[in-house]
Amino acid sequence: MATIDRAASIARVAADINELTGPAYTLTSDAIRRYAYTDVYASTLDYFETQFTDLGFDVSFDPVGTLVARNRPSGEPVFGVGSHCDSNRNGGPYDGTLGVVVALEVCRLNAEHGADLPLQVISFLEEEGSGFGQMLLGSRIMVQSVDEADLRENFRSLDDGRSFWEHAEDAGYDPSRWRESVNVLDNHLGWIETHIEQARVLQDTGNRLGIVNAIAGYIHGDITVIGRADHAGATPMDFRHDAAVVAAMCITELERVAKEAGNRTVGTVGELSVSPGLINVVPGEARLSLDVRGPDDASVKDVVASIKSYAHEVAEARGLEANYAMRQTLPATAMDASIVSELETAAAGSVEPYRSMLSGAAHDTMCVASRVPSAMVFVPCRDGISHAPDEEADPADGALASEVIFEAIQRLV
Ligand SMILES: [Zn+2]
Repeated sequence: MATIDRAASIARVAADINELTGPAYTLTSDAIRRYAYTDVYASTLDYFETQFTDLGFDVSFDPVGTLVARNRPSGEPVFGVGSHCDSNRNGGPYDGTLGVVVALEVCRLNAEHGADLPLQVISFLEEEGSGFGQMLLGSRIMVQSVDEADLRENFRSLDDGRSFWEHAEDAGYDPSRWRESVNVLDNHLGWIETHIEQARVLQDTGNRLGIVNAIAGYIHGDITVIGRADHAGATPMDFRHDAAVVAAMCITELERVAKEAGNRTVGTVGELSVSPGLINVVPGEARLSLDVRGPDDASVKDVVASIKSYAHEVAEARGLEANYAMRQTLPATAMDASIVSELETAAAGSVEPYRSMLSGAAHDTMCVASRVPSAMVFVPCRDGISHAPDEEADPADGALASEVIFEAIQRLV
């Protein structure tokens, strides 16, 4: 194992993060706010382009503006590292950006130690969906899981309503060639993305790194309960068809079945509305969202199926009606066992505390993994806070991630 000058590595990671929180890289001083085709996003790409060019990498962009930096001619095998450098609209300095900075630091360690590893870095476009309301957009384009009509017509700027296509063209890209983006993932020996954890598991267990072995799949849906709106004073308890009571029963039942399902399954009702929503009216209708996730698709499906039939039964028993509709679903993504194992070996070799874990949140790696053996590394973020201006992580943990990934790739190529 190479002896890495950790202090120098930490200083470089900290300097990159510090630079990218400056006024040239965010649309507001209150938070980090940058997304595709804005000037501040272009400045961020410029910053990375300069850093990679200085290391002797060729920098190019896919047809919609995803940054690609590589130290081998195209057609030759490479190992991929990267993340995204767009932010949530009210974001912090670390979500996504730290992963691109860590990838850059891997490339610097590669130069410093004369390892000459074949590397390619990707900084994905629009992971957060801040520009066009579409999460994982750049990576979904890359693996062809969008339709051309979406890009031309359906995906529209949240700021001005113009299409993704028009914006991409205005920014100097050629979206008509979007299908060629898939070539970016050709000849890959593997892919590793680093990201802040976005939960408190690493912090509260005293670990500095998380080696992700699976990314949770999810089902998003809605239950609508239809009862009867009646006067809250004049209607005796036995005469009611109160939709809010059925909604409340569904929420507690979801907690129960998600716990019972095990396999790290989680279930959340994050949106809840009752109508007409007046203090003196028995709710005639209620809608609750369902967000069910986990690494085991069967458990996730079972939880949704059982909450759906529970809602139907309790509604019927009380003379109401309950309907379920799915919004969106994505299966769980297993990480590549040999990459995970080399990352664990390298993490153990660093003599710093680490743990294996699940990613509960979705990441670009879910798309990459459909074509390339993939894994992820998490670093702790303070109190699990992300997507907020006070998001905080330790550059030293980012530097440690770079070191561990650098060591692992040496064994994997
Ligand atoms: Zn992110």
